[in-house]
Amino acid sequence: MAVIAGNWKMYMGPAETRAFFAALQVGAAADRNELIIFPPTVSLGAAVSSPDRDPRVQLGVQNVHWESTGAFTGETSAIMAAEVGAKFALVGHSERRHVFAETDEEVALKVVAARDHGLVPVVCVGETLDERRADRVEEVILRQLRAAVSALAGGQGRFLIAYEPVWAIGTGETATPDDASSAHQTLRAELEASLGIAAALRTPILYGGSVKPSNAAELLSAPEVDGVLVGGASLDPDSFLGIALAGGG
Ligand code: PEP
Repeated sequence: MAVIAGNWKMYMGPAETRAFFAALQVGAAADRNELIIFPPTVSLGAAVSSPDRDPRVQLGVQNVHWESTGAFTGETSAIMAAEVGAKFALVGHSERRHVFAETDEEVALKVVAARDHGLVPVVCVGETLDERRADRVEEVILRQLRAAVSALAGGQGRFLIAYEPVWAIGTGETATPDDASSAHQTLRAELEASLGIAAALRTPILYGGSVKPSNAAELLSAPEVDGVLVGGASLDPDSFLGIALAGGG
């Protein structure tokens, strides 16, 4: 069972969202994979109520605030996203960290808020190109992972990790399967050290960064890769399905 998740970023309004689900026929790919789409918050309601959406395609929110309510103009809380029908929450996506300057501390607060309101957090970690060139991959991804996991302090429930090297997101550059496996191994070992072997083994670690139908099978069969988080290639139903068909074989 692989996890195939699509992050639509700031694309796909409500009408396009309904059209996507009308066109997406997941068929047997939904039996072999866990399928998740993260629409923009404004399209979440349309995704939930799309009459054509196969209910096996689950939904998530791309970002949450850590408070439940308050004077935070433009923000959405985890409790509100859950009320609309989200089941998952992306937390710490590289665009949140690098475009909106989100810190490890804020990511940790968001992970806890998601967990407390019944959303499964998908914690994104990943190094920049400069950090990779400086041989700092392990240091960076472990720091990001530890901040998120220690915030959960034992009562973690289910969560997922997405390893997304920043230099591979939206650039057409993809990590090699060996690079992905090596980073995932580092993350899995840290999960084992902090939460124990059972939790480490049941926590899916997804790879993200320019995944498309043509490279999905190779990445999904790499050791330690339990699924993929897909940006650009998830906007087209055929291409999302092509990736899903590569999973869970
Ligand atoms: C993403 O947005 O998480 C992502 C991996 O984007 P892309 O697939 O377009 O690189």
